[in-house]
Amino acid sequence: MPQLTVVVPAYNEAAVLEAFHQRLAAVLDTLPLDADVLYVDDGSRDGTWAVIATLAGRDPRCGGLKLSRNFGKEAALTAGLDHADADAAVVIDADLQDPPELIPELVAQWQAGHDVVYATRSARAGESGLKRLTAAAFYRTMERLSDTPVPRDTGDFRLLSRRALDALRQLRERQRFMKGLFAWIGYRQTAVHYQRTPRQAGRSKWNYWRLTQLAIEGITSFSTAPLKLATWTGLAAALLAFVYGLWVLGKAMLYGDPVHGYPSLMVVILFLGGVQLLALGVIGEYLGRSYAESKQRPLYFVEERRPAGTASRPSHAAALD
Ligand code: UDP
Ligand code: MG
Repeated sequence: MPQLTVVVPAYNEAAVLEAFHQRLAAVLDTLPLDADVLYVDDGSRDGTWAVIATLAGRDPRCGGLKLSRNFGKEAALTAGLDHADADAAVVIDADLQDPPELIPELVAQWQAGHDVVYATRSARAGESGLKRLTAAAFYRTMERLSDTPVPRDTGDFRLLSRRALDALRQLRERQRFMKGLFAWIGYRQTAVHYQRTPRQAGRSKWNYWRLTQLAIEGITSFSTAPLKLATWTGLAAALLAFVYGLWVLGKAMLYGDPVHGYPSLMVVILFLGGVQLLALGVIGEYLGRSYAESKQRPLYFVEERRPAGTASRPSHAAALD
């Protein structure tokens, strides 16, 4: 029977994990597959790991991975996918915003020959108008700037075939904009539509500051357009300065040079100073990213591992891999 691993990153999800697993297990029961679940505890500070251990003690299909600290969702996902040894893997959030009931549809598309089956939400219930607006603006910007189109209104909820999984594993960059990476690997991709429901319990870890950072991450890791923008701004400013210079020169030659022009001088200096700082900032953004990348640090460390199928054994510490 083909094997399927469901990877679930969880950060402070103790409140919802029990309910999540129940719903997931009910779905897995109906699948004509050999399915197991891998929970990745991303350094939670509540009882998430204890809940995972309890679940793993009860259900032999349930395994767990505990990271040494909070590395962020993208790293937690990577850890889970690295440890998923199956013919296909499904990535799903623990907060029940992604309905586990959609998994059979993802599997059906996979069995029809697709490598990446992503779930696209057709409604964003429970999200504010501002969040919808910013999300839409982000996707539009990405579409303009990047060569890799990132599908709209698509989270990380998706299924990956074995070869997609193997491809993704080779991308070890630190700047992990997962939606972009999933799209970048190519292969046969398709979408399945669903209605997104509001969070069941707990609250979103994504405030606007983190979302802004994610957006910058997405843009800088898939496009160098901001660098080009600096070039074009510089060029335009230089052209304007040249024309303005000619005009000042001509005026001085025709009408002499009574010392005027303090306001225009100030405006020009301040404007150019601002543009220069901005361009430096853009360059710095990319430089900082190459610096982080060049250190080649591992993306995460595993503190404890509990493979599926160890239902009655006590949890044991595993060396980092
Ligand atoms: N998550 C994680 N590490 C983090 C933040 C989030 O593993 O540092 C997990 C979280 O437990 C959940 C999923 O990533 O399963 C999505 O997180 P969240 O619901 O906060 O994001 P949103 O749905 O608002 O995009
Ligand atoms: Mg969520």
